[in-house]
Amino acid sequence: MADEEKDCIFCKIIRGEIPSYTVYEDDVVKAFLDISQNTPGHTLVVPKKHVKDIFAYDDELASEVFARIPKIARAIKASNPDIIGMNIMNNNGRVAYQSVFHSHIHLLPRYSASDPFEIKFTDNSASYDEAKYKKIQDSIIKHMEA
Ligand code: 5GP
Ligand code: ZN
Repeated sequence: MADEEKDCIFCKIIRGEIPSYTVYEDDVVKAFLDISQNTPGHTLVVPKKHVKDIFAYDDELASEVFARIPKIARAIKASNPDIIGMNIMNNNGRVAYQSVFHSHIHLLPRYSASDPFEIKFTDNSASYDEAKYKKIQDSIIKHMEA
C-alpha cells in the first residue's frame, strides 16, 4: 500500500481502523457523519479509492461516486422533518478549504437561514466586459478534454 493511503485518515476510516458513524456503504463509496457536524446530519461521501481531489477523478469514478449523491441526500433529508434544504460542497486545494486530501463531498442539511454555516457569493459582473468574459471562456474551452 502506498504511504499516501497508509497514512490517510479517510483511508483509515474506510479500512475500519478508525471508527465512524457510517450511514451508507457499498463497493464504491463510504458515507459517514462529519465529525464537525456543521449542521446536524452533516455527512461526507468518500470514494473508497484514494483520490486526492476532483482533478484526479476519471469519468468512471466520477459517474459512480456522483450518481450515489442523490439517494444519500434523500435519506438524510427524510431522516429529520426539520431539514428543508441542503448544500452540497466539494473543496479542492488548501485555498478552497480542503483540509483532508482524500476527495470527499460534503452534504450539509439546512434548517434555517441562521444555520452556523455560510457561503457568500460576490457579484463582480460590474467589472467584466464582453472581452474579459470571452477571454476566460476561450481559455477554458481550449483546455477541455475530448
Ligand atoms: P475539508 O475541509 O477537507 O473539505 O473537509 C474535511 C472534513 O473532514 C472536515 O469537515 C472535518 O470535520 C472532517 N474530518 C476530519 N477528520 C475526521 C475524522 O476523523 N472523522 C470524521 N468523521 N470526520 C473528519
Ligand atoms: Zn485516502
